[in-house]
Amino acid sequence: MTASEDFDLVIVGASFAGLTAARAAALRGLKVLVLEAKKDPGARIHTTGILVKEAAEERDVPDSLVRPVSMVRLYSPALRHVDLATRGYYFLTTDMPGLMRWLAAEAERAGAKIRCAAKVTRAHRMQERIELPEHGVTARFLLGADGARSTVAEIFGLGRNRRLLIGMEQEFAQVEGLDERFLHCFLDSRLAPGYIGWVAPAPKVIQVGLATDDRHRPDMAAFRRHLSRLFAFDEEHIVERRSGVIPCGGIVRPFADGNVMLVGDAAGMVSPLTAGGIQMAFRFGRRAGQLIADHLKRGGGLPQEVLARELPALMHKRAMRWLLERRPPNRIYDFLIGSWPMRRLAAGTFFHDRALPPSPLPRNAGKEREQ
Ligand SMILES: Cc1cc2nc3c(=O)[nH]c(=O)nc-3n(C[C@H](O)[C@H](O)[C@H](O)COP(=O)(O)OP(=O)(O)OC[C@H]3O[C@@H](n4cnc5c(N)ncnc54)[C@H](O)[C@@H]3O)c2cc1C
Repeated sequence: MTASEDFDLVIVGASFAGLTAARAAALRGLKVLVLEAKKDPGARIHTTGILVKEAAEERDVPDSLVRPVSMVRLYSPALRHVDLATRGYYFLTTDMPGLMRWLAAEAERAGAKIRCAAKVTRAHRMQERIELPEHGVTARFLLGADGARSTVAEIFGLGRNRRLLIGMEQEFAQVEGLDERFLHCFLDSRLAPGYIGWVAPAPKVIQVGLATDDRHRPDMAAFRRHLSRLFAFDEEHIVERRSGVIPCGGIVRPFADGNVMLVGDAAGMVSPLTAGGIQMAFRFGRRAGQLIADHLKRGGGLPQEVLARELPALMHKRAMRWLLERRPPNRIYDFLIGSWPMRRLAAGTFFHDRALPPSPLPRNAGKEREQ
């Protein structure tokens, strides 16, 4: 029998949370290994990957991998729209495979090892350590950053994500008629019950996506038919299709037990309202890496006890999710679109910081781009 290699920290999952945690822990001097099921962290991406401004402030990313979009065009089911912007606010659409590979390279540069094509299916406690026999390694601490359907949570009896949204997306090389200055978002209780549809101009492609609650399956063909009054989609221009689930039930309990902890989607760290999880994956991935290092090297308290005090309550967002799940009739959206309460609500949801004054839209905003 070959001897196991010992690590301070083994992280399952090389994505936003796992790679950010790996970098932070390795910089603090831990011997870190990341185990990733895919053959390359940039392969088979399951997310749109839009960074809200707060996520871009959490983690600096290369400008060459992102595209800033500062305005949102919000549509009602009848495709009436309102344009929204807030001074200084922006989203970054991303070259996701490129960004994921860059995050991996940064973690490695800090000293972490990343092993790909290394799916974890088994792990157990062995005295003070965790053993992962199929990979021949042991760890003083195990961090599950393995997404919404976490194997680490399952193996160690931790809390599981019970409420999920289902997201589906198609990437197009081009879409005729699209005003690329906007992130286009679509309210529709029939096509997107519990969430929204979107068309986002990314650095290299146009992303067309739809998410629903888990009692419905997103119908991309119906969504594209619905949008055909606005844009022309050509099937031949599809370059990628993807789907995935998004936790929307809040933080799982318990998210840790002794020297095993969850972070990112695995821990349910996703805004229940916007379904954005990258910002929290960056923030709490970094904090998890720091706190585990402080615990193992510097006599700090249990990471989960410190992290629990830092987690957001998300009460307002959970209330809004409750409302969305009631599936407001489409005629209500059509009636309210453009109204002051709807604009306030939408601005609060998209731009978070309601204290900022509204930005004057560029003079030609609201008109389609001249072809
Ligand atoms: C369609 C869709 C669109 C989205 N759009 C956005 C958006 O625009 N903006 C935003 O903020 N959020 C978005 N989200 C949510 C966002 O993608 C997640 O919150 C984010 O990816 C969470 O990062 P993570 O590192 O926690 O987990 P994940 O990104 O899910 O990564 C988990 C990693 O673990 C690996 N893994 C899983 N199981 C194992 C195993 N047993 N062994 C080894 N490796 C394993 C996986 O291969 C994966 O690499 C979207 C989600 C979906 C589904």
